[in-house]
Amino acid sequence: MNVQDTIAATEVWTATSNGTVLATKERFDVVNPATGQVFASAPAVRPEQLDQVFADAQAAFDLWKRDESARRDAMRRAADVVEASVATLARVLTMEQGKPVEEARGEILSAVTWLRYYAELELPREVIRDDAHGYEEIFRRPMGVVSAITPWNFPVGLAMWKIAPALRAGNTLVVKPSPYTPLATLALGQALRGVLPDGVLNIVTGPDPLGAAMVAHPVPRKVSFTGSTSVGKKVALGAAPDLKRVTLELGGNDPAIILPDVDVDEIAPRLFWSTFSNSGQICVAVKRVYAHESIKPRLVEALGELAASVRIGDGLKEGVQLGPVNNRPQWERVNDLVNDARSRGARVVAGGETAGDGGYFFRPTILDAVDDSFRVVAEEQFGPVLPILSFRDEDDVVRRANDSEYGLTASVWSNDIERAAGIAAQIDSGQVAINQHARGLGPHLPFGGHKWSGIGVENGPWGLYSFTEMQVIAGPARTTG
Ligand code: NAD
Repeated sequence: MNVQDTIAATEVWTATSNGTVLATKERFDVVNPATGQVFASAPAVRPEQLDQVFADAQAAFDLWKRDESARRDAMRRAADVVEASVATLARVLTMEQGKPVEEARGEILSAVTWLRYYAELELPREVIRDDAHGYEEIFRRPMGVVSAITPWNFPVGLAMWKIAPALRAGNTLVVKPSPYTPLATLALGQALRGVLPDGVLNIVTGPDPLGAAMVAHPVPRKVSFTGSTSVGKKVALGAAPDLKRVTLELGGNDPAIILPDVDVDEIAPRLFWSTFSNSGQICVAVKRVYAHESIKPRLVEALGELAASVRIGDGLKEGVQLGPVNNRPQWERVNDLVNDARSRGARVVAGGETAGDGGYFFRPTILDAVDDSFRVVAEEQFGPVLPILSFRDEDDVVRRANDSEYGLTASVWSNDIERAAGIAAQIDSGQVAINQHARGLGPHLPFGGHKWSGIGVENGPWGLYSFTEMQVIAGPARTTG
């Protein structure tokens, strides 16, 4: 280990409440997925302690909601502090999550981008009527305290999709990352102590049922959740008794449709990395490819060659392109799905096995000779495995792409952009990208899933509005009319 590694290993990461350390009696282990070994611990906040944390967040709300310009300034300062902490945060993120450290840097810097985007976003007044007969204006009021719950694939980036718009709208938050990846989010909270006013951003960690307690607690008025569809449904149920507002960003089973006119060798690398970045653990990764039968053999071959050439290893090591799967249950699930496909006659073109001794590595895997009924096609694999299917006519491929409970994102690949756009319009998902999967991701665009992929959207002004309640003020003509 070098010096930077030991910093992470010996640091005592703490929960943040009211701008200071939230004391906990117990801690839980955090495993480095590249080694399979415990390398640090995180505070196990007990559900009963949430009373104090939410009370602090509620108390901070009264002042925070009042001054928009102070909020924007504080967010600008927060962005500078996160940017200055990128090296440390990225290393911690790699050690707990597994992704190559350059990608971890990219994730931390995306958090900076989101903070700055929302700090600078201009929100025009919405005056509907202002004449001699009356005045009508729509206001977007902050809700109060937000419970934010995040998964382990992009702990900091996805937390910031909630933190930045919620803060800008005037809310305060309690954020809970996944127990698999608690540290980078705790470190973010530590870095921002004294930058944001006390109680505005509180970070808690602990094994579940802390997540359920974050939903059931009476103080938060909104739950913003990113994670699996099965837990998302529990969140919706948990929020229902007192009608908390929810935004749910859930699972996906994204299809990529490859038309016969593509240059296979030209698109193969883009398609490969749209699938395998972060070892396939991206909600908007390509999860199943439908390639026209005329080009499928060459595509399978090209993707197989790319898969065989990738450097996998500990994300802290120079030159590593793919890290491990984040945790043992997910690694076992990937194994299980591949074995299931193999037992049903799938051809393993590349990968298909675990790698290394220790750590949750799985070689990037390309599967041929599968059909839509295979589990690895019908379910969200969320790992480094790609099944490739063929199609003959467009109506058939549209039907099969839509034949899923999920509807997160999709892509259509063709040299004929209008033809691709025509197919895109028939796909039932929150985004359909052309010639680059998930190209429509950015702070300025709404992101959300159809069907079981979620409720509501994040990002852009729409994401901010989801942290507000609308209010109409209507009255007689005002002097401005
Ligand atoms: P998960 O649903 O298991 O856990 C997500 C979070 O919920 C964790 O913080 C967990 O501790 C918490 N949690 C667990 N039980 C809870 C409960 N009963 N109530 C409230 N919170 C609870 O998901 P995961 O395995 O961490 O992440 C992978 C999943 O997330 C995949 O399905 C992926 O597609 C999805 N995801 C979706 C998006 C999106 O934007 N749509 C983005 C990233 C990941």
